[in-house]
Amino acid sequence: MEKIIRIAVQKSGRLSEDSLKLIKECGIKFYNGTGKLKSTSTNFPIEFLFLRDDDIPGYVADGVADLGIVGENELVEKDKKVQTLKKLGFSKCRLSLAIPKGQTYIGLDYFQGKSIATSYPKILQDYLEQKGVQADIHEISGSVEIAPSIGLAEGICDIVSSGSTLMMNGLKEVEEIFYSEAVLIANENLEDWKQAIVEKLLFRINAVQKGKSNKYVLLNAPNHALEKIISLIPGMRSPTILPLAQEGWSSVHSVLSEDQFWENIEELRAAGAEGILVVPIEKMVI
Ligand code: ATP
Ligand code: MG
Repeated sequence: MEKIIRIAVQKSGRLSEDSLKLIKECGIKFYNGTGKLKSTSTNFPIEFLFLRDDDIPGYVADGVADLGIVGENELVEKDKKVQTLKKLGFSKCRLSLAIPKGQTYIGLDYFQGKSIATSYPKILQDYLEQKGVQADIHEISGSVEIAPSIGLAEGICDIVSSGSTLMMNGLKEVEEIFYSEAVLIANENLEDWKQAIVEKLLFRINAVQKGKSNKYVLLNAPNHALEKIISLIPGMRSPTILPLAQEGWSSVHSVLSEDQFWENIEELRAAGAEGILVVPIEKMVI
């Protein structure tokens, strides 16, 4: 049998789209028909399992899947033994405590002796213990926001991104307790040949991520300003300088982080740079 590894990704939800986008950006092709629970890449030794995100840490810990893409919230809550290979930078959210809008919040002591509904009992319990708060945790699996209005609990602990769901349910956010983003996880005992495929995948993911955080910058500058401009945009090794048809001018090409570009833009212009173009980079291998 051909040697392939298995990766578990969310079937449908807030992780799926970006997980599959990352795989595609890595140049890995596969068929993702609706309702399909398994798919094998046509150009990379990897098979996909499409699952509920709750099940991903367990499948990876058990070795049913070698890799998985899951939110840190789900990973920490499930508390399975897996290794985290990489933060992926998408599906960012936070777990927060919220209480009815009309209540006065006096700090964490507010929750002493109160009941809190959540789908994340472990993360919440660990947090409250660390803060010395004794509360009664009600585990429910969904629609946590309605718990206070139906008298199930006095507060909630749930995922927040914009806060609009809380507001619609008459709640206000009072504490942020956990920050999460999608991560690539792996089974702790990968055989060498699997590890080698994982390394190839990681190499591609790194190239995609580097590309995203960097830009290709082209600009024109008078030759007398080149030294100053090169010091502002040093690039990967050093910038490329090409003469313009107009005597005394050059075109400077460089690669730099977007932040670095914005930090230096005023100085670049002051030094005489003009016709500045900033171009996205698809992949970057250094
Ligand atoms: P499943 O059916 O697979 O169990 P789910 O309903 O548990 O899905 P989703 O709502 O699809 O979960 O969210 C998946 C993950 O995406 C969450 O565990 C969290 O890490 C992240 N996430 C949740 N809400 C947001 C949001 N508003 N913005 C960004 N990321 C989010
Ligand atoms: Mg889930």
